Amino acid sequence: MNAHQQAVKQLEQVADILRPDFTDQKLFDSIITQLKTPDRVIEGELEITMDDGSTQTFKAYRSQHNNARGAYKGGIRYHHNVSKEEVMALSTWMTWKCATTGIPFGGGKGGIIVDPRMLSVTELERLTRAYARLIVDKIGPWLDSPAPDVNTTGQIMAWLTDEYQKIKTAQGKLEENPLAVFTGKPLNLGGSQGREEATGLGGVMVLEKLAEKEGWKDKKKITIAVQGFGNVGYWFAHHADRLGYTVVAVSDSKGGIYLPEGLNPEKVLEVKKQTGEIAGYLHTSEAIQQKGRDISNSELLELDVDILIPSALENVITAQNAERVEAKYIIEMANGPVGTEADKLLEAQGTVVIPDILANAGGVTVSYFEWVQNLQGYYWTKEEVISRLKPMMESAFEAMWYIKEERQISARMAGYVVAVKKVVEVMMLRGKQS
Ligand code: NAD
Repeated sequence: MNAHQQAVKQLEQVADILRPDFTDQKLFDSIITQLKTPDRVIEGELEITMDDGSTQTFKAYRSQHNNARGAYKGGIRYHHNVSKEEVMALSTWMTWKCATTGIPFGGGKGGIIVDPRMLSVTELERLTRAYARLIVDKIGPWLDSPAPDVNTTGQIMAWLTDEYQKIKTAQGKLEENPLAVFTGKPLNLGGSQGREEATGLGGVMVLEKLAEKEGWKDKKKITIAVQGFGNVGYWFAHHADRLGYTVVAVSDSKGGIYLPEGLNPEKVLEVKKQTGEIAGYLHTSEAIQQKGRDISNSELLELDVDILIPSALENVITAQNAERVEAKYIIEMANGPVGTEADKLLEAQGTVVIPDILANAGGVTVSYFEWVQNLQGYYWTKEEVISRLKPMMESAFEAMWYIKEERQISARMAGYVVAVKKVVEVMMLRGKQS
C-alpha cells in the first residue's frame, strides 16, 4: 500500500465512525469521496544548469489537497524518495493537521526528487528558484503558503520568497506582502520568534495534558526515550527535562545512549556539537556514575520506559517490532512513525498513541503565527508566541481526548474524527453545488 492509499484507507475508517453524525449522508459520502483526492497536483520537470555547464532535470510536485478551511499549507521536501503519491498523502494529512489546532488553513505539500547533498549551494539555489517558477501562479498568502520540510531550510524559503517577489513584481501582480507566502523564513526576513522550538515545545504541551489526564503526580518517575535528536527531538527533550520528566535515552542516525537515572539534553547537545556524536556524553562523570551505555536505535524503541517519542523518521514502528514496544504511551513527534499494521498491534496491547496530526502540530501553528505577523507587518516576542501556542495545543488535546473517551476509540482515530469532522462541516456550509 503506498502512502496515498494509506491516507485514503484512514479516511474511510474515520468516515465510518462519523457518518451517523450527519443527517444528509449522501452529501457526507460525496464530500468524503472528494477528500480522497487532492484538489490539484502541480507537476513539472525542473531543468537547471549545473556548475560544470551541463543540464539536469528534476521531477517536482506540489499537491493542494483541500482549501475549504483556508489556503493550502504545508512543507516542501527535497528527497530522493519523493513521489506523487507521497506528496498527495502528506497534503491530505496537512488538511487534518491544520484542522486539529483550528488554524485557518487547508492542506498542501510539495517536493522535488533530489538528494540535495549532491548539489552545490549555487545549484541548490537554481533548483529552488526553478521550483518557485513552477508554482508561482498557484501560491500566495490566500492561495497556498508553503514551508520547510525534510531537507529544506530557512535559506531555501528566502530564495523562494525572493523569486516569488521578482516574478510577481515583473508581472505587475504584487498585491500582497510577499513575506506572507512562505513560512519558516529566517528571523530577519519575516520569520517568527519561537518557530525553531515550536514543534518540540508543542509536543511537550501535549505531554503535560496527558500527564493531567492520567493523574501523574511525580513527573520525575515518568521516563522518556526520544528517537532522533534533531530540531524536534532536541527541543522535546529539552522542555520535558525542564519540566521535571526523566529523559533516559536519546538517539540520532549514529545510534543512541541510555542513562537509567536520566540525562541532561543541553549537555548532550553540547557534546554532540563538539564531537559530532551523542555517544561522547557517555564519558561525562554523570554518565559514568549512572553506568550509562550506548544503545542502537532499535533497542531505544524497545526500552522499558513510560513514554516513547519517535521524532526522526516515518515508519520506524512496524509489524516487526510493535509487539516488543514496552512503552505505554507513544507521542508521535515525527510524521507517520507508526505504520498501519503496527498501529493495530499497539492498540491491541493497550499502548496509547498520540497521533502526529496533534502531537507535532505546534510547528504549523507557529507557521500560522508567522503568516499573521507578516500580514500585519507587526512582530511578536517569543513570550507572546508561546502564550498563544499553549491554549491552542491544549484545546486541541482536550477535543481529541473527549472524543476518545466518549466513543471509546483510539487516540489516533479520535484525533482524525475531530479534524475530518471540522473539514466536512465547512464543506457542507459551503453548499452542495461547489
Ligand atoms: P532533523 O533533520 O532536525 O532531525 C532528524 C533527527 O533524526 C536527526 O537527529 C537525525 O540524526 C535523526 N535520524 C536520522 N535517521 C535516523 C535513524 N535511522 N534513526 C534514528 N535517528 C535518525 O529533522 P526534524 O525537523 O527534527 O524532523 C524530525 C521529524 O519531525 C520528521 O518526521 C519531520 O517530518 C517531523 N516534523 C518536523 C517539524 C519541524 O518543525 N521541524 C514539524 C512537524 C513534523
